[in-house]
Amino acid sequence: MSRSEAVRKMTGLTVMLPGGIMPGEIMAAVHDLSRKYDFGIYLSTAQNLRLINIAEDDFEAVKAGLAAAGAVFKGPGGFPLPKVCIGAGSCKLGLVDTLEFSRLVGERFAGRKNVKPKFKIAVSGCPAACSGAMLADIGVVATRAGFNLYVGGKGGPRPRVGQRIKKGVSRDEVMYAIEILVDYHDRKTTGKQRFAKLLNADDFPFSLE
Ligand code: SF4
Repeated sequence: MSRSEAVRKMTGLTVMLPGGIMPGEIMAAVHDLSRKYDFGIYLSTAQNLRLINIAEDDFEAVKAGLAAAGAVFKGPGGFPLPKVCIGAGSCKLGLVDTLEFSRLVGERFAGRKNVKPKFKIAVSGCPAACSGAMLADIGVVATRAGFNLYVGGKGGPRPRVGQRIKKGVSRDEVMYAIEILVDYHDRKTTGKQRFAKLLNADDFPFSLE
């Protein structure tokens, strides 16, 4: 097989990293497998691990090797892991444990299916919003008065800052509001659709501040 034919038969695989944390077992497996199968490693902007240029013939072996190390893979329709800043555990400005918040979101929404591509959620441990919470479809920002919740942020060629729909509320209230938003997005969309386009719909379930 020529080099150009080999390039055409490459594929990729995304390993989910909750909270952007890389477990040592997965790091070791990725290291060993990348040396054996000669693929590339990319840290995605969503804080996941994207393995690139895996030869299709090697794909199942790579996937099995990672699964044995405890890896969970991104698949179509799954709920996205929140993008988080490092939060109170490692940042002196942090007001909450963002990793724990991310874990709770993961637990609550892991069973969701049919989540559309490009749906993004981000959590920041203080108003500095280092995780880009105001640029996500759903953004959670911790403040001294409680959590603020934003919706409709996006990047891309026409970036937009999310609009606040909750101010100074509890974590439980944030979770409940996220549930309503996710249900609404699912109901209103059949394919890729950023939340920004839904904010002005008559039946949008929250008031914009
Ligand atoms: S958003 Fe706040 S808590 Fe999070 S990393 Fe930035 S400064 Fe620290």
